[in-house]
Amino acid sequence: MGIVRVLPEHISNLIAAGEVVERPASVVKELMENSIDAGATALTVEIADGGMTYIRVSDNGCGMTAEDAETAFKRHATSKIGSENDLESIGTLGFRGEALAAISSVSRTELMTRTHGEETGVLIGLEAGEIVSRTPAGCPEGTTIIVRDLFFNTPARLKFMKNDTAEASAVLSAVIKTALSHPEISAKYIRGGKEELHTPGDNVLKNCIYSAMGRDFALNLLPVNWRDENVNVSGFVTSPRAGRGNRAYEHFFVNGRGVKSPGMAAGLEAAYKNSMMSGRFPGCVLHLELKASAVDVNVHPAKTEVKFFAERSIYDAVYRAVKDAIEHEGSPADEREAAEFPATWKNPNEPASGFQDTNRRAGLGHGTLLRDSGADFARLTRRPLLPGMGIRDRIEAREKEETPPDSLSPARFSPRGGQNDGQLSFAQSDDAAPLFRVVGEVMKTYIIVEQTDKLILIDKHAAHERLVYDRLMRGGDAVMSQTLMTPETYVPAPPEYAALIENAEETLALGFLIEDFGGGSLIVRQAPADIDIGEIVPLLSEIASALMQGGGDMDSSRKSIYESMACKAAVKAGRDSDPEQLKALAGRVLSGEVRYCPHGRPVATEFSKQKLDKIFGRA
Ligand code: ADP
Ligand code: MG
Repeated sequence: MGIVRVLPEHISNLIAAGEVVERPASVVKELMENSIDAGATALTVEIADGGMTYIRVSDNGCGMTAEDAETAFKRHATSKIGSENDLESIGTLGFRGEALAAISSVSRTELMTRTHGEETGVLIGLEAGEIVSRTPAGCPEGTTIIVRDLFFNTPARLKFMKNDTAEASAVLSAVIKTALSHPEISAKYIRGGKEELHTPGDNVLKNCIYSAMGRDFALNLLPVNWRDENVNVSGFVTSPRAGRGNRAYEHFFVNGRGVKSPGMAAGLEAAYKNSMMSGRFPGCVLHLELKASAVDVNVHPAKTEVKFFAERSIYDAVYRAVKDAIEHEGSPADEREAAEFPATWKNPNEPASGFQDTNRRAGLGHGTLLRDSGADFARLTRRPLLPGMGIRDRIEAREKEETPPDSLSPARFSPRGGQNDGQLSFAQSDDAAPLFRVVGEVMKTYIIVEQTDKLILIDKHAAHERLVYDRLMRGGDAVMSQTLMTPETYVPAPPEYAALIENAEETLALGFLIEDFGGGSLIVRQAPADIDIGEIVPLLSEIASALMQGGGDMDSSRKSIYESMACKAAVKAGRDSDPEQLKALAGRVLSGEVRYCPHGRPVATEFSKQKLDKIFGRA
């Protein structure tokens, strides 16, 4: 007898489950896709314990008959394709008939469903893929699937799960991605009994972005509308001045399916070349529509990667569409888009009280400020601080005498006229480096220093940034924090919200006292003393995205968080600085303590007398 056998169905299901069902987030993605394919206009995702013990997805779609409901759990059972030809132009999200078989084989699953027009529905229970109960059920039209105890029968897989926070954050990302793929569907996400996201389903992409990705992201978007004979590109990209710290905000969709696409990402980023600072990344929600036959969606188990028959033209299309959007920033059409921003629909994530809305607080109509420059926005959000300025001034005066300018402490570079008075001030640098003279500052950016026979130019921001960063990395003193007289409120993107709440203790050590303010918003009661008011929320958002990148864990995110903090706490190029502080800073640079900013750019450059003589033909 031969030794080659066809595996029994329950084993082949388990093998398929290994490909399709990687973690709770993949279950949620598959179930949401089924709801969308079923024509739902509203769906709800609910999880407990990061989705490991409980996932529920309910929809108001077409439902299934009792007979179909049982068949649906069989491997390769699908209503979406019938012939080989159908594979060439797939119009639905699912088509392989694998998800329900795979999910139910590694969990305890319940399905409750009723078709439109039928009087009763059916409730089916499965355990490890076997149907264990079936009863008629009174239930609403549509389908509810509950998945409990994921991987209870595959302990090896269970071991690979991260903690609940990380799993929940992956679920949330899946919900966000799917919600953004279909703005005509209202998607609700409940975690641990709390609603964390709710999109309106009004088919206005911007409203969907607002509720799925948060206000901060939605504030700085440029509309994209571009087409050629093969492809239509639409959606939104971030303005070049609103670059993010990582690529987590790049969302691409092809014919309504969320995809990862290196080609599209490259086209997007290329369009920002020269208009966005290096180390910053654009965010986007870009929908591509092309003929179903121009793309193969059957190349990846979770269908998150697709193959274009003309890969290069997709890169070009994204590049040109985004470039066009960037070039038209501020044009009248752009303004129109901005003004359209949720006037009628209210973000459920936004708390009811109006005082946290900067626009309203400033007495401006809702939406009128959306396209204002970042600087103006910061100005409007600037409010006085506690403790009283008297104390602060005193501390500042004392710190100026005692502390080198690298502490995240109330010693800040005060705007007291940056002009050097021209006095020849020689100073001894800390490390007994040769005497030097600060000649002055130019362009409110570069410090000019003379030292023996050298001319040295120092980038004041880069140098200070490095000092602050090193100090944070050394982990010496706690960051000086101060209480805000008017606490800042912040409505982060839902995953950022979760990351900050989970790490409240760690962010306190960074100088932020934040509390849950309900409805997905946070209130910031204390912030590091050296951060401008207008920078508090941007900094928190960078911290949150660093935390997300590090899998919700402070230790793996520390480096990039310190980089963000150092950048925000450092003196700013283009702003006035106190000559005394510049002198102290020059001393630290000349002592050799800092050479490169945390991003690797040099902080100083020098010209020897010899070099200058050569330039002027003296040598
Ligand atoms: P696929 O989506 O690839 O067809 P699935 O295993 O995900 O495979 O689903 C199998 C079948 O079950 C689907 O083709 C569909 O007919 C039915 N089905 C699954 N989920 C739903 C739902 N939420 N509403 C209606 N029908 C559904
Ligand atoms: Mg499916």
